[in-house]
This record gives sequence, C-alpha cells and structure tokens, in this order.
Amino acid sequence: MIQEASKRVEKSLNHPVFHTIRDICDEMNRPAFVIGGFVRDLYLNRPSKDIDVVVLGSGIELAERVAKNLGGLRLNVFKNFGTAMLRYRDLEVEFVGARKESYQRNSRKPIVEDGTLEDDQNRRDFTINALALSLNKDNYGELVDPFNGIEDMEKGIIRTPLEPGITFSDDPLRMMRAIRFATQLNFRIEDNTFEGIKSQKDRIEIVSGERIADELNKIVMADRPSIGFKLLELTGLLQIIFPEFQAMKGVDKVDGRAHKDNFYHTLEVLDRIVPNTDNLWLRWSAILHDIAKPRTKRYDKKLGWTFHNHNFIGQKMIPKIFGRMKLPLNEKMKYVQKMVGLHMRPIVLSEDVVSDSAVRRLLFEAGDDIDDLMTLCEADITSKNEVKVKRYMRNFKVVRQKLKEIEEKDHIRNFQPPVTGEVIMETFNLQPCKEIGDLKAIIKEAILEGEIGNNYKEAFELMLKKGEEMGLIPKISPND
Ligand code: ATP
Repeated sequence: MIQEASKRVEKSLNHPVFHTIRDICDEMNRPAFVIGGFVRDLYLNRPSKDIDVVVLGSGIELAERVAKNLGGLRLNVFKNFGTAMLRYRDLEVEFVGARKESYQRNSRKPIVEDGTLEDDQNRRDFTINALALSLNKDNYGELVDPFNGIEDMEKGIIRTPLEPGITFSDDPLRMMRAIRFATQLNFRIEDNTFEGIKSQKDRIEIVSGERIADELNKIVMADRPSIGFKLLELTGLLQIIFPEFQAMKGVDKVDGRAHKDNFYHTLEVLDRIVPNTDNLWLRWSAILHDIAKPRTKRYDKKLGWTFHNHNFIGQKMIPKIFGRMKLPLNEKMKYVQKMVGLHMRPIVLSEDVVSDSAVRRLLFEAGDDIDDLMTLCEADITSKNEVKVKRYMRNFKVVRQKLKEIEEKDHIRNFQPPVTGEVIMETFNLQPCKEIGDLKAIIKEAILEGEIGNNYKEAFELMLKKGEEMGLIPKISPND
C-alpha cells in the first residue's frame, strides 16, 4: 500500500497550488503542511478535493500571498476563526495557523492559541486524520505521522491520538465521527477508543442536533450503513439520539412463539436497498418502515404476533422523530411518511390475485414515487425461506408488469380529475357546495374501480347522471 501511496503523494504534490505554497513559505521562512482528511484520503486512494494547509504563524497572511501569486484569486477570510479559503480549479484550499486547543466542560468550542505542528496534530480526532505532509523545499512531501496513522490505516483501525475519554469528552461530536469513519471505511474502532465512546456517550447532549444529523446522514449514505447503526447501538449512543430505533431491538416470546428482531431486520433492509438507490430519503424510509412495530406489537393466541396498523402509526411518528433529529420537515419528510404509510401495499397486493383496481389505487396513492415504493418493498423481503422469497419476487414481477400496463392505459400516476370543480359548478349552475366534492369523489372512485376510463367524456357523462340522481339540474342539456 505504501509504495502505491507514495506515488500518489508525489503526483498530488506536483500540483501548482502546492508549488506556490512551497515557494512562498520558503520566502517567508515558515514551515507549512498539508494535513488531515486530504492526506488520509491520498493514502486510502479516495478522491478528495478539500485541502487543509497548516502553517506556523498566520494562515490568513499565507493565504493572501498564495491567492495573489495564483493570479489574484478571490479569498474568503474568516477572521474569527483565523482561517482563509480559496478555490483553484476544482480544489478548495483552506489555510490555518497551527494551533493548540483547550476545552471547557459545557461547550465543544475550544479556546484556541497559537501552537506548533505537534500541538496541531494533538488536537486531531483520530490517528488517521493527524497525518501531515511537509510543503517546504528541504523536505517537500515528507510525512509527519506521530501517532502511527499509516499503520492504523493498514490495519483498518480508528483510534484517538490521545486518551479517548478526554478526546470524546472535549468534543463529543468525535464519537459520531468515529462511528461514521468506521462505517465509510469499513474500519474497526480500536478497543480503548470504543470504551471511551461508551463511557462518554452522555456527553453527546452538548452537540447540536444538526451536527449529529450530518454524521448520521453520512452513515446512511455509506455502502453498508448497518455497520454504523450497530456501533451506535453497542456504544449506547442510539438510545440517546434515536430511542425509537433502539426500541426495535430484541425479541419477545410467548407460548414458545417469537417474532423477528426488528432492529436487525431493518438494518438488513437498509443494506439491501443501498445498491438500488442513492436517494437519502428512500434510505431513511427503509430505516423507518417498521418504526411503529414496538408500539403496535400484540400477542394473539390464534394469530401469534401482530403489528396492526404499524405502517399508519409509523407514518404519524415521523414528524416528531424528524423534528427532534433536526431532519427536514418539508416535502422530504412527507415523502418518507408516504413510503412508510404505503410500504405494506405491494406485498398485500402480490399475495392476492392482482386485480386492476387494486393496482390503480396503488398508482393513485403512490403517484410518481411508485418505483421507489417497489424498491423499498423488494428490499423488505428478508425471509430466510427461499421458497417464500422466490414466490414474493415472482409476484412482485407481476405487480410491476401490471403497474406498467395499467399506467400506460389509464395514466393514473399523476391523477388530475378529468372533470374539474369549475366544470361541475358551471354545468349545474352551482355556488361552492358539498355536492361538488361528492361528484368529484364519485368520478375518482369510478375511474379507480375501472367502471369508466380516465377521460373527460366518460367522466362528464357520469357527472351528469350522478348529478341528476342527486337532484341537480344541468344548465345546458347534454343533447344541446
Ligand atoms: P470528510 O471530508 O469525509 O468529512 P474530513 O476528515 O476531511 O472528512 P473535515 O470535517 O473536513 O472532515 O475535517 C478535516 C480534518 O480536521 C480532519 O481530518 C481532522 O484532522 C480534523 N477534525 C475535524 N473535525 C474534528 C473534530 N471534531 N475533532 C478533532 N479534529 C477534527
């Protein structure tokens, strides 16, 4: 790995940005380094466009000179943080002076003072994030790896440079970051570091919901999100940040009959949906599809374990969960609610003879999200019984085929009433009243049941007939 990586480092440091920094730092006689995530990702061969440069002395001053030398680039200066950022081609370079940090109990914001490279590396969260490459002429490209980060990378280990308990207590967001990196990189959290998280888990309360949500979303978008959720559970963090998910863990047994563990089932569904979607909210739908099972769980002597209405109750639980976890409360949440509410429908449908009207109703309710719903349902089949799985998959094929045929014929996906309220009012000379809504509902029902086609002519005829039955009198006779 090292040899390959050295070539990448050499190639990467050949970039004009780094050459410019080198020349200016030599003139200023200042040690400077590229540090952190960019170096880590170079060694791990992961693409990265964010470069952090640390310099002894003022980061802003160095940035100003680099920006000027590169042809007068625009510089974003953050005086309060002592940092400055510029964009050069596709790279984003941030400059900061080397610093030493100390923490107070009630905040994850450190007190900052000027420091050495060593101080700066000490404040980094993990050994793999503390690597620095020199940008000075004398030792250009030399690696400074005080905590054996390279070795940890080779072993696939997440470890804090200093005492884990203090590291996590100082800035508890690091606990989420540890689990997020372990998930993204498929690394193991080293035992002491893991114990450190367990012992400091309650400190998570000083971290803002937004920062926690950012890390959670990165876990959800990883190739195997289950790794992260299992770690969250094992460390005790899940109970604090997402108790509804924790509640799914465990199995009850009555009369020797047990239900499945819904925590592990959900994680399986989540991992299974990953290859089929990059949509964060469809992945969240997978996480939440059975969230109401603990609340709706009942044991019935005849039926065994039941979870009646867990889809609808789950749908209703979502605003509170999203609100607390600082996830968006807009159409993205509504989409997740819809997925959770409908997630049983294709299965129920496929268990029966797949009737046209049932398919039309599903199309009507799912609209353009019907394909996502089918993706969720297919991921939800986690039974170990191969015969059962085969049967479900076969039936889903039939459902998908039927969905396609009926959509081509009836265009239900984006259902717009073929006869509008205005037409009804005009025809029967009505002011806004209950009958208009009733007539619209009758027409919609008739279309979904397949009694009439989804077109103006048939809908208008039905409207006249039903309107007259209600005692309404058309202004213009249909024969005019
Ligand atoms: P990614 O880009 O995947 O989020 P990253 O490690 O580059 O990963 P940044 O948040 O940009 O993430 O952080 C850059 C570097 O700053 C890290 O590599 C690490 O050295 C340091 N760092 C970031 N957050 C913390 C923290 N909470 N505690 C200590 N060091 C941190």
